[in-house]
Amino acid sequence: MPMTDDEILARAREIERQRSDARVTEARTVEARVQALLAGRGEPFALDELRYSASARCPCGAGLAYPLKVGLRGCWDCSAILTGTADVAVMHTDRKPFAFWSIRSEGEGDHDGTTRPAATEAV
Ligand SMILES: [Zn+2]
Repeated sequence: MPMTDDEILARAREIERQRSDARVTEARTVEARVQALLAGRGEPFALDELRYSASARCPCGAGLAYPLKVGLRGCWDCSAILTGTADVAVMHTDRKPFAFWSIRSEGEGDHDGTTRPAATEAV
């Protein structure tokens, strides 16, 4: 027996709610990973898990970046910290929440700059 329009809409809403819950859970997991890295432990992110800034950099020289799945409440952080390659003896940026900082991402609009390390560059 085919579903009614109301049943189809109810099912669509349920699927959307489940996806939203999954995104929230994923964002929390990613944020916990960032917090661990900021505390000097945790599993570093791979380069392809991060979006880099077009030009904004940490005082240490590394580009700013954020994990792709961090969600809307994420922050820009030092990419060297996120990739586990930071020199702990030098000063790094404070976290820059998306809500308060407008920082251009690599590949945003017609801007083609990036602070992402080149593939051949040692990380
Ligand atoms: Zn840094």
